[in-house]
Amino acid sequence: MIKTVALIIPCYNEQEVLPVFYKTVTEVFDKLPQYAFKLLFVNDGSRDETLSILRDLAKKDSRVTYLSFSRNFGKEAAMYAGFCNVDADAVAVMDADLQDPPSLLPEMLSILENEDYDSVATRRVTREGEPPIRSFFARRFYRLINRISDADVVDGARDFRLMRREMVEAIVAMSEYNRFSKGIFGWIGFKTKWLPYKNVERAAGQTKWSFWGLVKYSIDGITNFSQAPLSIASYSGIVFMMIAFIMVIFVAVRRLIFGDPVAGWASTICIILFIAGIQLMCIGIMGQYMAKTYMEVKKRPHFIISETNCEDPVKIR
Ligand code: UDP
Ligand code: MG
Repeated sequence: MIKTVALIIPCYNEQEVLPVFYKTVTEVFDKLPQYAFKLLFVNDGSRDETLSILRDLAKKDSRVTYLSFSRNFGKEAAMYAGFCNVDADAVAVMDADLQDPPSLLPEMLSILENEDYDSVATRRVTREGEPPIRSFFARRFYRLINRISDADVVDGARDFRLMRREMVEAIVAMSEYNRFSKGIFGWIGFKTKWLPYKNVERAAGQTKWSFWGLVKYSIDGITNFSQAPLSIASYSGIVFMMIAFIMVIFVAVRRLIFGDPVAGWASTICIILFIAGIQLMCIGIMGQYMAKTYMEVKKRPHFIISETNCEDPVKIR
């Protein structure tokens, strides 16, 4: 039986869209009187009026709670802070910009209640309104990460999903510093039903993602959930060793039969440069993993909360 439902909403500079979001989402709540809803906004160090809007909403409506970070820690940290501070039978993460349609909530709730699933997730089946190169690389990324990791990331998957309390506990237990939620949701398992929907454009304000931000995000996703790049580094070493061995035999035999004088300075230089490049690339791959390990070993907190109206909050974790 699901009685209480909490929505976690990460907000970073969302002053334009927050009032619209609040209005839309509470209209959906009114249609579902059988559930007690709670809104948990996480202000991720916004530099605009987001926090004061949240304070006002909390004053007006007792369903509204908020956590406010001491600086911008990123959406992953904001979601984690939400999961650590939430207490409800069903929990969903939702973007503040209405790109995760609240109108899907009734259907998601009825699936969770009546069918045998632990979570209901959403995926975009279209990418209209998005630059074509971005869509192209996004598709390649999903194909790649599914091939080389056991994270099971669905193409077009959103962070918007409704899940049972058990799943939330599993997510809180995944306390890694380098967080890639799409991978974490897949990794912990549980039975998930996917709801497809058509892409919706931002209601107001601007996206926080640049193209290079997304490239970095995808590299993080891969290195967090796959060791394949390390294997590529070692296999390429073996392959080059074998090629070198064959070449040694070839050169020696040719010398014995034809007594060839040495020639080919240019080709030697090319080969040296090529191999040196491969070596640097492999050291770089190792460095990426070492940097991750370094950050994990430090055990720095994921987030620091400087203000909240929640009772008994987890302020630092
Ligand atoms: N967000 C956040 N911290 C950040 C960047 C974004 O909490 O550092 C929030 C943002 O307020 C929004 C959600 O994450 O609610 C998704 O951001 P955005 O809409 O910019 O991403 P997009 O939908 O373009 O992928
Ligand atoms: Mg968005």
